Amino acid sequence: MEIEFQLTRGPIAEKIPPPARLGMAGAWLEFRGVVRGGENGQAISALEYEAYPEMAEREIRRLLTEISTRHLCIAAKVIHRVGVIPVGDTAIYVGVASPHRREAIALLAEFMDQLKRDVPIWKRRAIAGEARLSQPLHPGNARRAAAGTAALRSLDEAVSEISSSCQPLPAVRAPLAEAFGRVLRETVCAPEDLPPVDRSTRDGCAILANDDSANFQIVDTIHAADWKPRQLKPGEAVRVATGASLPCENLRVVMQENVERTGDQIRIVRRETATNISFRGEDLRAGEPLLRAGAKLDAGALALLATAGNVNLLVSPRLRVVHFTTGDEIIPPDQTPRPGQIRDSNSFLIRGLLHNLPCDVKQAHLPEDFEQARQLVETSKLQLSTFNLLLVSGGASVGEKDFTRALLESLGFEIVFSQINLRPGRPLIFGVNGSRVAFGLPGNPLSHFVCFHFAVATALARLTGGEPPKFLRGQLAEKLDDKPCPRETLWPAKWEIGPDATARLRPLAWANSGNVACLALANALVRVPANRGSVETGAEVDFLPLKYS
Ligand code: AMP
Ligand code: MG
Repeated sequence: MEIEFQLTRGPIAEKIPPPARLGMAGAWLEFRGVVRGGENGQAISALEYEAYPEMAEREIRRLLTEISTRHLCIAAKVIHRVGVIPVGDTAIYVGVASPHRREAIALLAEFMDQLKRDVPIWKRRAIAGEARLSQPLHPGNARRAAAGTAALRSLDEAVSEISSSCQPLPAVRAPLAEAFGRVLRETVCAPEDLPPVDRSTRDGCAILANDDSANFQIVDTIHAADWKPRQLKPGEAVRVATGASLPCENLRVVMQENVERTGDQIRIVRRETATNISFRGEDLRAGEPLLRAGAKLDAGALALLATAGNVNLLVSPRLRVVHFTTGDEIIPPDQTPRPGQIRDSNSFLIRGLLHNLPCDVKQAHLPEDFEQARQLVETSKLQLSTFNLLLVSGGASVGEKDFTRALLESLGFEIVFSQINLRPGRPLIFGVNGSRVAFGLPGNPLSHFVCFHFAVATALARLTGGEPPKFLRGQLAEKLDDKPCPRETLWPAKWEIGPDATARLRPLAWANSGNVACLALANALVRVPANRGSVETGAEVDFLPLKYS
């Protein structure tokens, strides 16, 4: 297959000639992705794209090669524009040649679907309608001009900005034993049929499938580890153990309980309809995808990969996370608080939330003074530049002692937003510094919990290349008792599957974002629109199942 890939900073031509060698190929299908005038309901004048050129090319070649095993591809041409792309201009051009149009359509659809997830080309930011493109864009100023960091973000806006600001970290190879919890970054196909041969599912006797003989001569015995191919004749039987590879095709296995044996002769006392065979390829056919890129490697996934002999996997790297707590009132949990002091719970919250994610977490407490905190960070052995994610608990608001924003800026993070229109969790800071991201999380444990599950979880999904948190539909099993609130709310709840297979949610009691009792019970957050007030039992609601807690 001929693959041509180009990254360009300039406009993509109106007409792209098909590859010279196309010749008699059936279909040449083209697609253009054009920058539209709106992004998340906001008018924009341009989008800015960035890429890791070598990795992007490698991934695009790999993707096309992999997809062409299913939909034959003769040639493909991909041109992606990076940098600032004005509304109306083409951001991506893809042309594919296949023997048949149907195949080209399927190929293109699959490619576009996987491109966004697997290829390190990302939408860095949307530039607001009023930004003037004729002026050179200074990255920091332009982002601020576009977004206005002080402006309150809605939940959707915050998630979308986090998503577009984080890009998947370069994938690494890891042995199977170290892959648990990581995100698979390549589609893995079955190298051979599974099972590779017909196998007996019972202890019994294998005979020809249509052999009506009354008596059979036992000609061999096959155990699970044996490989003894031979063609059976009518009247012949082979004793087989569960899992044994059958000696030839077109057999059936009669369960041991249904035969009567005398020496090396057997008689079938009951004929079954079942063949008692696990046929070659019935689990998976050679070349079929075992797992697709983006799959989270849980126990089942690892078992599947082990069965197929995939021992060295392309996966997301182990994340390096730093978590700083702040606040002079915070004491370790084994101490007895004096009036005004509070036991640190956020360190344990964060540690627990990250427990099942392959990551190295370093935690430290910072003094409540910007200069002292900055010095401590700089002189510590943490080497912040090597971390992927920085979390700071508390100090995210605009009080006299709240220095999280200033600290992140002093560490080179560009602040994307600093407040969200959400209850609980209004002061939430999000910043980026190259491929590194930082959050200033509100100190109250419930706000911390909520912000982690939609904001930090979105960043984790993007950095690892996994599935972002997704709201589901469910039904309230009890009334959600609330007064109308001008902010949207993520209300802690407990969900379970009801007898009718719908998700049923019980809202938990909480009065303010400092409440901790509900943390131990919550496994969901119910989304309550602004100004809604109480929501009645039986009402349909959106909720976020909490996969980290
Ligand atoms: P802040 O965001 O710093 O204004 O803190 C808001 C509230 O969260 C205050 O009552 C803090 O005492 C509390 N808080 C901050 N950090 C922690 C922590 N690590 N554990 C428990 N509570 C905290
Ligand atoms: Mg504080």
